[in-house]
Amino acid sequence: MTTTRVLVVEDDRELGDLLLRLFGGAGYAAELARDGQAGLHRALTRRYDLLVIDRGLPAIEGLDLLARLRRSGNQTPAVILTALGTVTDRVAGLDGGADDYLVKPFDVDELLARVRVVLRRRPTGTEHVLPVGEAEFDLIARTVTTADGDQTTLSGRESDLLRLLASHPSRVFSRQEITSGVFPEAATETLADTYVHYLRRKLGPTVITTVRGAGYRLGTL
Ligand code: CA
Repeated sequence: MTTTRVLVVEDDRELGDLLLRLFGGAGYAAELARDGQAGLHRALTRRYDLLVIDRGLPAIEGLDLLARLRRSGNQTPAVILTALGTVTDRVAGLDGGADDYLVKPFDVDELLARVRVVLRRRPTGTEHVLPVGEAEFDLIARTVTTADGDQTTLSGRESDLLRLLASHPSRVFSRQEITSGVFPEAATETLADTYVHYLRRKLGPTVITTVRGAGYRLGTL
């Protein structure tokens, strides 16, 4: 069982520190971002199991942050904290992709209980996750997450190519096989080389191994 990673985005210094201690004490690995921009950057570049986002934030407002994450394909469960407690605000939060919504001031035990519910609701199936060496490739989110938690998002074609190679990690695929599998409309096989180049640039040179005269196979990360 790996540690559950929580990102707290909260500009109130006291509350932010309290939440860090609270989640730390409950056995989670918690990190804190103190404004919306920093929160968005972290959520896009690292893997978390849960986001706890204050609504009133400098730089990027909490719901806007969440909307941007969801648009980028990030489906990490999120709990929104807010001082705005009207029904309209709650609906806006839940419509905006939040999994739960808690009005300040809240009881810390209630927050932890709600967090447990949201985490339990997570899809547990891992059939859409393929290993790439020590890293994990999520076919649905199109993300590659290293053992350190660094996350990279792939384009659709990059993801299709990596999926092909990762589905048979020890097999060598010819450029022709890659072209017909990933770029069926392409007239030449150079797209295979181009996308191998893209993936290496994004994930590092070792992600794909060139087998001279034969093609490419999955490397390691
Ligand atoms: Ca605030």
